[in-house]
Amino acid sequence: MKKRYAIVCMIIVIMALSLGNQKLVNRSLAYAPVAENGIMDLSEWDFLKDGPVELRGEWTFYFNTFLTHEDFAKGVDVDSHRISIPSTIKSMNEKKPFEENTFYGTLRLVIHLPKTYDTYGLRSEIVLTAYELYVNGRMEGMVGKIGSDPASGYPRYKVMNSFFNVENNTLEIIYHTSDFHFEDCAIIAPTFGLANQIAYMGEIGLARDLFLFGILLIMGIYHLSLYWMRKKDASPLYFGLFCLLFATRMLLVGERFIPNRLDIDVMIYVRVAYISVFLGFSTLCGFVYHTVYGLFPKAFLKLAWYMGGIASFLTLFLQTKSISVLLILYFTIGFTMLIYSMIKLVIGIKNQYKYAAGLLFGFVILSATFVNDFIYELTLSNSPSMIPLGITVFVFTQAYIIASKFSSAFSLAEHLSIEKESMLLELKHVNNNLESIVEKRTQDLQSALDEMASMSRTDDLTKLPNRRSIISDLEEVVKQGKKYFIGLIDVDNFKTINDSYGHKAGDRVLIAMSEAMKTYVGSEGMIGRWGGEEFLLVMYEDKLEEAMRFANGLREHIAGLMFEAIDVGITITIGISVCDDRLSLDHCINQADEALYLGKRNGRNQCRQAKR
Ligand code: GH3
Ligand code: MG
Ligand code: MG
Repeated sequence: MKKRYAIVCMIIVIMALSLGNQKLVNRSLAYAPVAENGIMDLSEWDFLKDGPVELRGEWTFYFNTFLTHEDFAKGVDVDSHRISIPSTIKSMNEKKPFEENTFYGTLRLVIHLPKTYDTYGLRSEIVLTAYELYVNGRMEGMVGKIGSDPASGYPRYKVMNSFFNVENNTLEIIYHTSDFHFEDCAIIAPTFGLANQIAYMGEIGLARDLFLFGILLIMGIYHLSLYWMRKKDASPLYFGLFCLLFATRMLLVGERFIPNRLDIDVMIYVRVAYISVFLGFSTLCGFVYHTVYGLFPKAFLKLAWYMGGIASFLTLFLQTKSISVLLILYFTIGFTMLIYSMIKLVIGIKNQYKYAAGLLFGFVILSATFVNDFIYELTLSNSPSMIPLGITVFVFTQAYIIASKFSSAFSLAEHLSIEKESMLLELKHVNNNLESIVEKRTQDLQSALDEMASMSRTDDLTKLPNRRSIISDLEEVVKQGKKYFIGLIDVDNFKTINDSYGHKAGDRVLIAMSEAMKTYVGSEGMIGRWGGEEFLLVMYEDKLEEAMRFANGLREHIAGLMFEAIDVGITITIGISVCDDRLSLDHCINQADEALYLGKRNGRNQCRQAKR
């Protein structure tokens, strides 16, 4: 960040040197001679070495009369006044033979030149509001139209460069001049020098004006386009407007590119020039307000716009004299706002507001050039205006701020999009994982469910279908309309087995027995654990005799088995019932139970059929 500021400062210094070089050239003016009693002695002046001269000092002025070269040659009998050039209302007050500031007259200076004859140039800027220039009696040009009353003349505001050959070493400069419009009494000292020096001043001045115009125009259009494309931040809008307003101004002031070429009414010119300043200041405030958003109160922006708006509106209708009053008023408030802004920006820097430092830097440069030009305005010295330089430096530093604002916005956007992308990738990854995790969990859940289902249907010890399962299977058989018989099996004297060999041995007997019964029944029926040492047998037989035979077969098979856990045989008693459609399943089982009970009472180890 520091390095960047260093680069910006370097650019500014280079620009200041290149644009301010006219100032350096003019420095020698400080040592130039001053006119006395209407005569300027330049006979010892080395123009080549020391450059052009501002024709400051005492000129002679003849109020309300136009005198010619011939008149002076003959000798005139008119009151002459020594007036000090540059002149202002203040300096003229003691000289004028009347109260008011509207007058016309002849302004004259005689110059003694070095012996070497040459081609010279004279640069005239402001000589009241209209003038005709005569050099050694020859008319060299005119600005506006002079007159002896408001109706006969009209004002113009131009820079006039005149070039002429000098045949002897005395030169007489006469301005016929008048002011019935501005009442300003302003006469700026014309600049006199070798023709090429005066031409150079004009060329370099014009180059500077057009160069700055170009910069400001491009900057203006560029920043307005930026705003057009991204309306979220209003600082480029204000900045663009500021640039365009000052671009317009560049063509009006300085070398007065537009007034010199287009013969526009001076009032239009003055109004446009003032409005560009008024509105320029408002846009500047808008720019500051939005660049360090939050630092300035909204009232600051409002005040700036009301001021600019009202002042511009009034400028459209007021007379020049009133505009000058307005200008003083405006500058008082404007200057206060500028000081306020600077204080605020210092506070902003302290509170770490972004861009506050850069803004303050631009402001200081801008204000310094304004102060310079204010002094210039007061002294009416011919030193070139520094405001264009100030504006340019300001524009560059502020464009840099806007650019860095945009670039940090872009960087943030890029950063966010990269972050978004990586987040997206991660999310995708998680999503993929999630799918496989969900699949696995679903499988686990399904197998757990399956296991639970089978557990809920299977007896834990014997692995035979439990009571619920065998009942539901039986209901299925009933639904299918299959013919079947039911046998309820109870192990005989099982309590004795438990008592003699232990409960564990009893369990192992039950397991082995169940296995044997299941194998025996096979696909000819079903068998399930009814509870304790009781089992429910379903036989798919057509006739009772067949069922009795099958049950007896099972009973004998069990009776013939030897069990590992015990060293005695096991017998079972089976109660058999005939189930037909009319009887409910419960009833059928109850009947089997009754038959079983009978079998037990009858001595056990037998199959007994239920009574019908
Ligand atoms: P009977 O049926 O011939 O009249 O005599 P019993 O001794 O078999 O009759 P009882 O109904 O009085 O006794 C049944 C015994 O079966 C009681 C109980 O301890 C035993 N028994 C029931 N379920 C289990 C079991 O899961 N494991 C073991 N080890 N014994 C069981
Ligand atoms: Mg029992
Ligand atoms: Mg029993």
